Amino acid sequence: MPTSHQPDSSVFGEAMHFFDAAAQRLNLTSSMYRILTHPSRQVIISIPFARDNGEFEVYTGYRVQYSSARGPGKGGIRYHPNVTLDEVTALAFWMTWKCAVVDLPFGGAKGGVTCDPNVLSLSELERLTRRYAADLIEIIGPDKDVPAPDVNTNPQTMAWIMDTVSMHLRAHTPAVVTGKPLNVGGSRGRVEATGRGVMIAIEAALEKMNKSLKGMRVVVQGFGNVGSISAKLLSDAGAKIVGISDVTGGYHNPKGIDIAAALEHANKSAHRTLDGFAADRVSNAQLLELDCDILVPAALENQLTEKNARKIKASLIAEGANGPTTPEADALLSEGGITVIPDILANAGGVTVSYFEWVQNRMGYYWREKEVNDRLRDLLRENFDVVWDTGKEYGTTLRGAAYVVAIKRVVDAYMTRGIYA
Ligand code: NAD
Repeated sequence: MPTSHQPDSSVFGEAMHFFDAAAQRLNLTSSMYRILTHPSRQVIISIPFARDNGEFEVYTGYRVQYSSARGPGKGGIRYHPNVTLDEVTALAFWMTWKCAVVDLPFGGAKGGVTCDPNVLSLSELERLTRRYAADLIEIIGPDKDVPAPDVNTNPQTMAWIMDTVSMHLRAHTPAVVTGKPLNVGGSRGRVEATGRGVMIAIEAALEKMNKSLKGMRVVVQGFGNVGSISAKLLSDAGAKIVGISDVTGGYHNPKGIDIAAALEHANKSAHRTLDGFAADRVSNAQLLELDCDILVPAALENQLTEKNARKIKASLIAEGANGPTTPEADALLSEGGITVIPDILANAGGVTVSYFEWVQNRMGYYWREKEVNDRLRDLLRENFDVVWDTGKEYGTTLRGAAYVVAIKRVVDAYMTRGIYA
């Protein structure tokens, strides 16, 4: 296998590991491997913007469009001091497979600005965002590349980008970004979509195993957007949530945690944490090893490692977070007979409803929440089945199968279109 020309980063290293394994299973030609391991376009911009005191600051911004074989780029914009071209490229690579595995008509992209948003006022953030969007105006757009929120960006950031692009084009252009507030073209169901997708994926896996969610003991790591909504929906569907956690530590109750009460507790606390919630306290490390049937890591990357993989008691893991399992742990979990629904499939609910937002913007017609949720279920179930069957066909784990399905779809698009050379 030829070597790739890709940057080194932890997320990228892991995605590359799984990508390489699937590329071998698919017997990719060296030419196709070379094409798939190079980003289509990497843009670096200098963003001058005025601080509130009148001084000008210049920050560096990026947008990487990894592949457009299946459609416009899709991926978030991150504001963080550690943003680099390497990291943005790695995340754009990752988005390419995530969009393809659930069959969205998008390629993969990602953007970012190297900055510390905590030291910027709201008006400084607005000026920075508008200048970043204006500088990218030739390369983003409903048919080119459709950004979304990521770390430290939010619906308001998307509203500013949509407004800036619309002002420049002299045309209302809501489909240039997704994750917008509801009153300017956001989709109903978007906020809950990732957690809902986690639940749908778990139900689909249990069905294949002839099991039901009723009474299943579940542990969820992380109680933010993905973790708390997964916990709530799983509990509403009859599962018993026996452990939850956040940055303040783990909370355990073998008889079942009242998730509505935990949500109320978090919503009332100053920093939206579980601090002080009434349950047995465990460390975050212990939480992952609790006796349970299903584990949902929904906080950070690299949580399941070669150190704890053998101690995991759950028989099913659904990766709400991106990259929670290292490649070494992945192999150990597979050896131990534990089924892992990989991140690119388990947490694809968010990007799927982003796709629905783009569709609704282009139609100018907005669905009710039930319609969004029903379509999300249909799309995820359908692609879960494809991944499951591919796993059987290739004799591989669901992660191996997810990468096979995603790569095959991107390769097929390249082959059908032909390589313009
Ligand atoms: P969030 O910021 O809303 O929540 C993160 C949660 O993790 C918080 O409860 C935080 O307290 C907790 N946490 C932080 N450090 C922890 C630790 N050491 N141990 C346990 N918990 C800890 O973030 P989110 O949007 O829920 O995202 C969580 C993960 O899911 C990330 O990996 C993210 O990339 C991924 N993801 C999110 C979405 C989405 O739509 N929000 C979509 C796909 C993937």
